[in-house]
Amino acid sequence: MNILNMTRILIIFSLANLFINTTYAEPHSTLGKGREYYEKRGDIIWEVPSQNKVIALTFDDGPDYTRTPEILNLLKQYQAKATFFVVGNRVEKFPHIVKQEFLEGHEIGNHSYDHASFQNISRTKLLTELNLTQEAIYNATGHKPILFRPPGGSYNETAVNICKENDLLMILWSWDQDTKDWASPGVDKIVNKVLNNVDNGDIILMHDFVHNSTQTVDALKIILPELIKRGYSFVTVSELLSNKDLPGRHIEVSE
Ligand SMILES: [Zn+2]
Repeated sequence: MNILNMTRILIIFSLANLFINTTYAEPHSTLGKGREYYEKRGDIIWEVPSQNKVIALTFDDGPDYTRTPEILNLLKQYQAKATFFVVGNRVEKFPHIVKQEFLEGHEIGNHSYDHASFQNISRTKLLTELNLTQEAIYNATGHKPILFRPPGGSYNETAVNICKENDLLMILWSWDQDTKDWASPGVDKIVNKVLNNVDNGDIILMHDFVHNSTQTVDALKIILPELIKRGYSFVTVSELLSNKDLPGRHIEVSE
């Protein structure tokens, strides 16, 4: 093999690698310690492998005045439980929606106060983001969350430690269940991402606050009945973690 051919192969290999890495990019650590390190220690959860056909749907960035109630209606129709990772300043705007999420049996998680980037964030600012949001959720529901999801999935040692000190468990999502619905990629793309990759114990990432988009809601109208048909049930992240009530919950769909 001559040098030119070898170079070609190397270029193709690098491009393929680049493609794989960008297509399936995982939430990232900003300090170089990767998934394996934090997953082994139980500091961060990406998914919860299970023998049972259970899935945790998660909705970030809300509450939203219009979309969240639409999603709540769909979840009720399909007897599905989900987890809402809410943003503190939006909780203060729409506390009644967060209360409704809680009263209908969904789980509320902390997703920071103003969705600031957590890369290079100071310890003080990070603590403020966590505490203000804990307080807003407590004021709305009477309960403090035990789950935290960092904006953009960015984490580092400081964030992990602050979560632990404040009894919050950091939750990310299954690497192949990032629907990217925040970018309004089209209903089909959201649906296919979930349906083509679904596996027991997955944590699916969606958003109930996406500016000017109904795609998440429209995708759910397809995803929920299809996964129920395949025998899956939908639980909160804490239920997924505690492995309780898992085997075959009977689902009756009300019209
Ligand atoms: Zn977010």
